[in-house]
This record gives sequence, C-alpha cells and structure tokens, in this order.
Amino acid sequence: MKTDVIVIGGGAAGMGAAIAAAKEGVKVTLIEREEKTGGILNQCIHNGFGLHYFKEELTGPEYAERLKKILREYDIDIITDFMVKEIKDKKVVGVFHDGVKEIEASSVVFTTGARERPFGALMIPGDRPSGIFTAGVVQKFINIENRFPGKRALVLGSGDIGLIMARRLTLEGVKVVGVVERMPYPGGLARNIRQCLEDFDIPLYLSSTVIEVRGKERLEEVVVAKVDEKFKPVLGTEKIFKVDTLVLSAGLLPMVILVSDFAVLNSTSKGLATSNIGQSSVEWLFGAGNCTVVYDLVDYVTVEGERAGKFAAIYAKGEKLSEKIPVDPGENVRVLHPRWYSKDDDLTIYARVSKPMEKGKLLVGNYEKTLLNAKPSEMIVLKVPARYLEGFERIRVSVKEA
Ligand SMILES: Cc1cc2nc3c(=O)[nH]c(=O)nc-3n(C[C@H](O)[C@H](O)[C@H](O)COP(=O)(O)OP(=O)(O)OC[C@H]3O[C@@H](n4cnc5c(N)ncnc54)[C@H](O)[C@@H]3O)c2cc1C
Repeated sequence: MKTDVIVIGGGAAGMGAAIAAAKEGVKVTLIEREEKTGGILNQCIHNGFGLHYFKEELTGPEYAERLKKILREYDIDIITDFMVKEIKDKKVVGVFHDGVKEIEASSVVFTTGARERPFGALMIPGDRPSGIFTAGVVQKFINIENRFPGKRALVLGSGDIGLIMARRLTLEGVKVVGVVERMPYPGGLARNIRQCLEDFDIPLYLSSTVIEVRGKERLEEVVVAKVDEKFKPVLGTEKIFKVDTLVLSAGLLPMVILVSDFAVLNSTSKGLATSNIGQSSVEWLFGAGNCTVVYDLVDYVTVEGERAGKFAAIYAKGEKLSEKIPVDPGENVRVLHPRWYSKDDDLTIYARVSKPMEKGKLLVGNYEKTLLNAKPSEMIVLKVPARYLEGFERIRVSVKEA
C-alpha cells in the first residue's frame, strides 16, 4: 500500500496531525492499534479538557468526539486494529486482522503517546500479591469495563492521573485512605489538588513513599515512611495502611520503542526529539504529543499534532524545509521541548523547572519572561516572537531564580 503521509497513533496528537496533513491536500493514512481512535481520552470521563482549543470544558470522550467529527470531514484513510511493529525507512510494518501489512509513505508522523511506569520499575520490597494496579489500568477497569478494583485504596504518586483516580475511586465507593508523594510538593496541577483531594478530604502525604507491600494472595498492608532529601526512608516514621488496593501513578514515559534505534531522543523528556515544526533528526519522520514530551493539557497536544501533520505534508509534497537550530536546556530547566528551531513556524517552548520557585525569569535567546510560582508539576508554555531569535546558532533556555 502507498500513501503520502502515515500517522501512527489515533489519539489527540494523531487526529490533529491527520486533519492538518489532509488540509494540505495530500493522501493521509491514520493507523491505530485499538478498535477506535481517541487514545487515552476515551477513558478520561472527567471534565477539564478543551478550554484552550475548543473554548469549552469537555470530558475526554467529548473532546475526542469533536476531533473525530472534524476527521470525518476529510478523505482520510483510517485503519484501526493495526499494531505497528516496525518503521523501516518510510515504510511502516504492522499486524492487521489478516496478517502482516506494509504501508509506504513520503513522510511519517509518530504520535504513539506515553505509557505508565510499571510496578516492577519502582523496586518496592515485599510480597507480590494481587491488588496492585497502575492508575491507567484502574481507570480503564472503572470507566470502560465497569469492574471494581477493591474496597480500600492507597494511591502512590500525586501526578494528575493519581489525583484524578483518587477522586474517581471515592465517587465509586472505594475508601481512599491517602495519596503518597515522595517529593516535598505535589506532582499534579493545583486545580486537581483542590478538586480531587481537598474537596473529598483525602489526605496527601508529602516527602513520603511506600517502602513495603504485604499480602499473601491479595494485598493486605502497605508500609509508608517519610523520606529525607535524598529520598531515603527515615527510620521510625513508618505508618501501616490496611488496604486491598495500591494504585500506582508514578509517571508517564513517552513511548519511543519504534524509533529509539534510529532517531535522536530528547534527553530531558525521554521522548522523540523534534523541532518546533515536529520534525525529528530523521528528515521524513515527524512526531507530536506525549511520545515527544508528556504534556499537562490535551489542547497543546492537538496544536502540536496539527503542526507536525502540516509540515509532514509539506515535506511529502517535496517542498524544502528550513535548517534546524538546536535549542538547549540551561540552568533550572528539567524538561524542554522542542529541541530544534526552524524558521518555518513560531517557536513555542514547553518547559518544566527543576525545583519550585517563587519568582524567576525564563530566558529564551534574547527573550525574557517573569515567572511567578513556577512548579515542576506545571508546564510552562511560552510563544517566543521570532525577532528575539535572530542571529543565534544555538538557542539556550534557562530559568534564573530571583
Ligand atoms: C488520567 C489522565 C487524565 C488527564 N486529564 C487531563 C485533563 O483534565 N485535561 C487535559 O487537557 N488533559 C488531560 N490529560 C492529558 C491528555 O489526555 C493527554 O495529554 C493526551 O490525550 C495525549 O494524547 P496523545 O495523542 O499524545 O496520546 P494517546 O492519547 O496516548 O494516543 C496515542 C495513540 O497511539 C496508539 N498507538 C500506540 N502505539 C501504537 C502502535 N504501535 N501502533 C498503532 N497505534 C499505536 C494508542 O493506541 C493511542 O490511541 C489526562 C491524561 C490522563 C492519562
């Protein structure tokens, strides 16, 4: 099979990319491994999606439906139940109902999203009983499959997914005894701390972690202790929680396995490194969404998906794209995206600071922006006017603490 642009992954980034590429008048094929498009949005039935992009507060499935409606307005070839296994030089190989299928294109947009850090990666000592789930799995159980994970739960990790699941479990009648966070500050957005924990009287244990899980067949007890600045448990601070469910929300990792052996990865986000137009180190490979950097909001994912789709189509039409200038992380910048700047479009910086700061200054080339109350959990989004980037061979992004 031949097409102009292949988009791998039908989440918000992939749908945005496919729509924007189709607007450029090229032939687009969107591939999704699940039986329908929408990605993670399909299981996020809470609201809080779309305020920037659709100027309305929507649930995840509503947001996905809006994009699907636009998708249907274009002549896009959507192939679902197709699991991509390999990308070899503009050819995408995957497993379909009737066997292995190969599709060739002039450019590829990679939008495979992120995966959850699993229990094994956390190296928690103790037994290995049932009742330990990642937050995404519990979310799918409750919101899609109507299954009940347990009766009393503890959540490890105060990122947005952990906070949202603490509330969701409570609403479903599960007693959530607390959320445990090893950092001295919460990992999720301030609005989620208020709406998911404070409004439901769920305690948040900061500078704490799970040091042991106990249980023969089903989880019975979880031992939590305070940690010092080096995240070492402090002796004598142990607290035992009698729970049958432990929900892990220990972070998302960009899913890059299909590209990691031939494309440059972003050392700060661990995702596919791309420029501001979504182009990777391999000129025909573009990327967007959570497989490049884990975003706070789906609205940014959609916008960056559109950008990558548009320029993947322009590349497929044989038009030349500008040279890429490196964008480097400097002082106090833990996560930075994109990693190159091309003059073909604006530069929007997505960054996370390495520590909380009451006041600071974000510096990008010659551009400065005052930051108030910057937190590692909240992504900084900044559009930099092109005139501040002229004359640079490399652009440094740093945050100076005031
Ligand atoms: C629990 C939770 C709560 C959230 N709450 C909010 C919120 O309140 N507000 C907000 O704005 N944002 C929220 N977000 C963030 C937002 O939902 C995500 O940033 C966004 O939906 C990610 O889109 P994506 O397209 O990058 O990835 P995904 O939605 O993960 O899509 C990736 C797609 O690629 C497919 N895929 C992967 N590998 C392959 C392969 N090999 N072959 C074929 N297909 C493949 C997957 O099946 C999937 O459909 C939340 C996220 C989560 C997880």
